[in-house]
Amino acid sequence: MIVECISVGTEILLGDILNTNVQYLSRLCAEVGLDVFHTSVVGDNVERLKQALQLACSRSDAVILTGGLGSTDDDITKRVVIDFLHQGTQVSTYNKSTIETWFDNEKARKDNEIVYTFPKGSTILKNHVGTASGAVIPFNQGEKQGYIVILPGPPKEMIPMVEKELRPILYKWSDSVTESLVVRFGILGEYRINEILKEEIVNGINPTIAPYVKEDGALIRITAKAPTDIEAKERIEKAYLQVEKKLGKYIVAVGEESRSEVLVRILKERKEHVSTAESITGGLVASTIIEAPGASNVLEESFVVYSDRAKHTILGVPNNKLEKHTAVSQSVCRSMLKGLHEKTKSDLCIATTGYAGPEGEDVGLCYVGIRYHGKKRVFQHDLHGDRNHIRNRAKNLAVDYAIMMMKGELWEE
Ligand code: ATP
Repeated sequence: MIVECISVGTEILLGDILNTNVQYLSRLCAEVGLDVFHTSVVGDNVERLKQALQLACSRSDAVILTGGLGSTDDDITKRVVIDFLHQGTQVSTYNKSTIETWFDNEKARKDNEIVYTFPKGSTILKNHVGTASGAVIPFNQGEKQGYIVILPGPPKEMIPMVEKELRPILYKWSDSVTESLVVRFGILGEYRINEILKEEIVNGINPTIAPYVKEDGALIRITAKAPTDIEAKERIEKAYLQVEKKLGKYIVAVGEESRSEVLVRILKERKEHVSTAESITGGLVASTIIEAPGASNVLEESFVVYSDRAKHTILGVPNNKLEKHTAVSQSVCRSMLKGLHEKTKSDLCIATTGYAGPEGEDVGLCYVGIRYHGKKRVFQHDLHGDRNHIRNRAKNLAVDYAIMMMKGELWEE
């Protein structure tokens, strides 16, 4: 079954509010196995909403509208749906009695008439938080039959309504379940992943493989549909094994676990500790590790060694090395790693140094050093983007390399 979402509200078009309703509904549809091929946003304009509804009903089996269910003049959704369907109205006694309890004068009750008036054939979706109920309304437009669903705009009203009232209906509409699996890769960017998995990405229909980039790096989402969740999971497993064959070395996290959670888990399982010495990342690596629950068991010490003086006095980087090679060099990164290990004796030591810019010649040049159980490596990268993008990328590389070193995917130079 094909579902389409229309968000109603001029404030969304103006960028005043983020359209989180469509994100929530699209995820829900994917979860219950309903296809969403289109979503759109329409301002509080009767004509344009009618046009959007017409188009959506012509190409989708169910159209879910959120917003504009209140009783003020700019709340147009229900009026437009009533007009569009031409099948008359019905009164919801449940909503009428709420209005009668809330308002003791006739004028206010009259002004709120729209709150208890629904298109004929509506199944009411109770609002457990506010006044405006939603509804599921069957439509019959010539050859085309389907459903229009109307939901309130405020997420705090819409989400409980969907969870309690609409979710069971969506399950009935679906003839399949959708399962998905996230696989996160270290070091590689979206472009490289796309290149290596081109065949699977282009030809994959069920499951599909989609690459993304998030703040903490690149990932793919494998999504499969099947009549049962067991079959869907089997399809995913098959695709995963194919991905693993091509890119196994770079896989740093699978499923819901984040990169920092993986790093902390591995260290915890091995009863080991990590320390960081950070110049370009200025504490970002330690902060990311601390994001993961259980970090207190594994994070020993973290030094922000931004100046040459700090690199020398805290980590013992020789002054002549700093002068000869500069702070952003293989040699200094290696010394930082050595000093950090001598100071902390941590099983895993991470050091970063680089030029974040925006001024200077070698903006983006960065070194990430990892020492794990006596094995040492310093990786050089030329990063692009603005200052904080470069710093974030350096942090991601440090976490990725650390996980890969611990998994034994990278060895001594
Ligand atoms: P009300 O009776 O409160 O007016 P309503 O159903 O008429 O509810 P709207 O007036 O369209 O809903 O929106 C009310 C508020 O709900 C918006 O100001 C916004 O904060 C939130 N909202 C509406 N649509 C969305 C959306 N698509 N995503 C996130 N929030 C939304």
